Amino acid sequence: MKYLSTRGGCPPQSFSDAVLTGLAPDGGLFVPETIPTFGAAEIATWRGLDYGELAQRVMSPFIGDEIAAADLQRIITDSYAGFRHRAVAPLVQIGANEWVLELFHGPTLAFKDFALQFLGHLLDHLLEQRGQKVAILGATSGDTGSAAIEGCRRCRNIDIFILHPHRRVSEVQRRQMTTVLADNIHNLAIEGNFDDCQRLVKAAFADQSFLPSGRQLVAVNSINWARIMAQIVYYFWAALALGAPARALSFSVPTGNFGDIFAGYLARRMGLPVERLIIATNANDILHRCISANDCRRLPLVHTLSPSMDIMISSNFERLLFDLYDRDGAAIARLMANLEAGDTRLDPTALARARELFASHRLDDEETIAVIRDEYAASEYLLDPHSAIGVAAARHCRRDSATPTVALATAHPAKFAEAVQRAGYGGTPPLPAHLHDLLERQERYRVLDNDRDGLRRHIAAHLSA
Ligand SMILES: *Cc1c(COP(=O)(O)O)cnc(C)c1O
Repeated sequence: MKYLSTRGGCPPQSFSDAVLTGLAPDGGLFVPETIPTFGAAEIATWRGLDYGELAQRVMSPFIGDEIAAADLQRIITDSYAGFRHRAVAPLVQIGANEWVLELFHGPTLAFKDFALQFLGHLLDHLLEQRGQKVAILGATSGDTGSAAIEGCRRCRNIDIFILHPHRRVSEVQRRQMTTVLADNIHNLAIEGNFDDCQRLVKAAFADQSFLPSGRQLVAVNSINWARIMAQIVYYFWAALALGAPARALSFSVPTGNFGDIFAGYLARRMGLPVERLIIATNANDILHRCISANDCRRLPLVHTLSPSMDIMISSNFERLLFDLYDRDGAAIARLMANLEAGDTRLDPTALARARELFASHRLDDEETIAVIRDEYAASEYLLDPHSAIGVAAARHCRRDSATPTVALATAHPAKFAEAVQRAGYGGTPPLPAHLHDLLERQERYRVLDNDRDGLRRHIAAHLSA
């Protein structure tokens, strides 16, 4: 399978180059040249597979012969071995034909583990084949950093440097990163805020001359194609459990960068009967405004109780736009430049097409807390604020109670104790057993000034041989 840039400005790349490059050289995102499809009869034979077997069926057409089947199976097995539920992604019923897909049973208690466990093992395999080593560099305000660190802790060919703003992430979030003591893990607390961290990362990517020859930086942010690909699997998993392909269903997805819900869109293109995809947003509602009112203005960022969805621009939306604009890369390059320059509207025909499949809904913090409170009062089921937004959007956008609706639960409530307490939950929601001693574990991190050259020197001095 070859990969194209959404902006049409570079030749098709192999799967492994697309994964190792992350962002396409023309500033676009990689998408597969064709979307593989499966017939209903074939999908029906996947009932009863375990999660890893299903993952192999769903992902292998995107990879082609670049990874041998046995190697892919091993990568998948290793990626999901650390999940603490036999079903990996279990479904819980919360109402009549209403379901929650729990995606928080991975090592860091958020759905990002699905993609980053897989990406870590995949990168290590590709690098081993090439006899190459890389350094992953990223900035985090919370979830992504810990999931990336957990994903790479056993990788032999990867050093990982994760920047977080010193004293500005929660203790649980910091400790999820800094208590991983492997030699290739480097936690750097920057004297600055999250934007400072991102600026430092950008500058390091822009000029990599400080690295020894043969070494490169790799980004593992949510635009990496392999992350999207790994997320397609659980849409098939949930749908098969609820009667697909014979029965259609809808998904509601707490959305920030549009990676997770784009994976649901791909599942539908591949042949899964998905009736609707519901974009659930917090007060940072650019996608909701875009879909419901063709208003794509970039408004200032608001800090909410669902911080992993606090995003001003949803990068992966470009991948959907590419299809909506008939895969015309030049048109997308123009559109992105226009949006950047302050244009706020999409082509009405493209938008109408999006609306055939996508619906959207927005919740502010007060509404989010009310949902957590009501759900807990009704059934003692505790939602984290991100998942609560998904559940509320599913109910709001539901047209027909005969179609099962699945809301994706993207984080464990213990990660967001403050919001859960504001919803009236007494005490602190307990961490799962494997993390119960997190607050006593030894930590390791370095505090660095907000300084480009200092960061470059630190990275160069700490690369493995
Ligand atoms: C990252 C994240 C999201 C948003 O997912 P996108 O793929 O960026 O849309 C939602 N909830 C949680 C808990 C997350 O960590």
